[in-house]
Amino acid sequence: MASVLLVEDETDMNHLIRSHLEAEGHEVRQAFDGPTALRLVQERVPDLVILDWMLPGMDGLAVCRQLRTNHLMPIIMLTARSEEIDRVLGLEVGADDYVLKPFSMRELLARVRAMLRRVALDVRLAGAGAPGEAGDDVPPAPQAITRGPLHIDIANHAVTLDGQPVDLTPKEFDLLALLAAHPNRAFSREFLVERIWGYPYDGADRTVDSHIVRLRKKLGELGEKITTVWGVGYRFVE
Ligand code: CA
Repeated sequence: MASVLLVEDETDMNHLIRSHLEAEGHEVRQAFDGPTALRLVQERVPDLVILDWMLPGMDGLAVCRQLRTNHLMPIIMLTARSEEIDRVLGLEVGADDYVLKPFSMRELLARVRAMLRRVALDVRLAGAGAPGEAGDDVPPAPQAITRGPLHIDIANHAVTLDGQPVDLTPKEFDLLALLAAHPNRAFSREFLVERIWGYPYDGADRTVDSHIVRLRKKLGELGEKITTVWGVGYRFVE
């Protein structure tokens, strides 16, 4: 079961896809245009996005590009334009898969299942264990951590990237230090909130996510190493 954001301007099609996804047990939020989709993602990051290319105003490519500046959740694009698939899947836009219109609902659901399986496998390979259990019993961090061009001086709360200081808030620092100290290990939002902010996670809190977004921005290219782990939280990839 996943939370899916469905972006399709054709009302009947949107409702049809929604009912099939809900029948599979997924929680679906609907958007009928790009700006609404972006707003819904800002409110709560979905596990998967199904995104129609042809939207009035801001098209699906622009939405996808925009999402990819801050998010790594899987995106499946719906397109009627077979000649453009390379652009959809390529670096230019960054979708993970596509379904060519017209499609059967069975085909779309199979793609959704395959994508969610792929992400779940990714989580297991990361050694996360079952979602929600990740991040328990973490050994203490060392005094300094070096990951490529990134150097974290724990005692002095200082971070440098290629020798240049990076200006982080105390919470951003704690978050980065924890993730980077345990590369490839997935940490749940629940664990991160309780460990770093010191209060219980209520299941809807986006504090961790907004800090991750800022951290990624401040770290530039290296920020891509902090990846979203579907259904769990985040990890630092090495
Ligand atoms: Ca459309």
